[in-house]
Amino acid sequence: MTDAPKSRIWHDGELIPWRDAKVHVLSHVVHYGSSVFEGIRCYDGPEGPSIFRLNDHIRRFLDSARIYRMPIRYSVEELSDGCVQTVAGNSLRECYLRPIAIRTGEQMGVDGRELPVETFIIPWSWGRYLAEDALTAGVDVCVSTWRRAAPDTFPALAKSGGNYLSSQLARMEARINGYSEGVMLDSFGYVSEGTGENLFVVRDRALHTPPLASGILHGLTRDSVIRIARNLGLTVVEEQIPREFLYIADELFFTGTAAEITPIRSVDRVTIGDGSPGEITRSIQTEYLGIARGTIPDQWGWRTAVPTARTAATRPQPAKTVRASEVRA
Ligand code: PMP
Repeated sequence: MTDAPKSRIWHDGELIPWRDAKVHVLSHVVHYGSSVFEGIRCYDGPEGPSIFRLNDHIRRFLDSARIYRMPIRYSVEELSDGCVQTVAGNSLRECYLRPIAIRTGEQMGVDGRELPVETFIIPWSWGRYLAEDALTAGVDVCVSTWRRAAPDTFPALAKSGGNYLSSQLARMEARINGYSEGVMLDSFGYVSEGTGENLFVVRDRALHTPPLASGILHGLTRDSVIRIARNLGLTVVEEQIPREFLYIADELFFTGTAAEITPIRSVDRVTIGDGSPGEITRSIQTEYLGIARGTIPDQWGWRTAVPTARTAATRPQPAKTVRASEVRA
């Protein structure tokens, strides 16, 4: 668990006290939403803590920055090391990590290219994202009246702060109307994704999920699920999905770093299957969480071990870890 005010936040290469991780009110990001960020989970396991798909998240982070012309001074390796330092330096075993790069400075004006870019990595305790019993009971969702941005408006592949304004509207609308989450359609009216999750439909034992061209974020949990499902011998199709396909699904589930694999039990009050998590959803969830938590072998190299005082003292570090001596405490 993170004890927020006592934790330290990585800021441009140093772990600094929580209260010192501040920006000026004139920062470009405050006025124009110019941030790019990531959400990554670190899981505890029998071999100690490990960060799930760390390098892939950092790669997407740098991709988001490139799309928005934000120069980041750090490589994938340096930022991945920064994440490991943030977990190890705060003596955490399980947490959510939020790397974020923001345009700061103290100037007005939309073009922020001349302004400084500062990078932070924030540790956070994030348990179940959508509801306490979401992973076992499933969640009730609605189709949102707010759509994902059209392809020539905001770049959906960039995980940037400004993109989340429409997600905020959709999520608030859903919650106010008594649902856990809203499913957004794309600008053509096809299913896109949740406000912070990708979506899968199971019908006749095949998985269907919207393609990148449906305005989705290129989710890493989505990618993990596609690989796990194919490895289990299941068919996975990336294709445009009409709204009504949701109502006639055998199973439906969300995927996301925060949401993990969350079954959906109803859409617009139409019950999916018999209203309880389906067999395929459960087997993918078990596989995903088992790999992330280190109880199922990691055949894809998705886990990056974090050294702890115990693991550093008892066994040699695998190649992907940062040595304890390199962790700036
Ligand atoms: N879509 C959106 C809009 C998101 O914010 C997220 C969470 N990052 C996802 C999908 C799922 O992505 P990932 O599996 O990489 O967390």
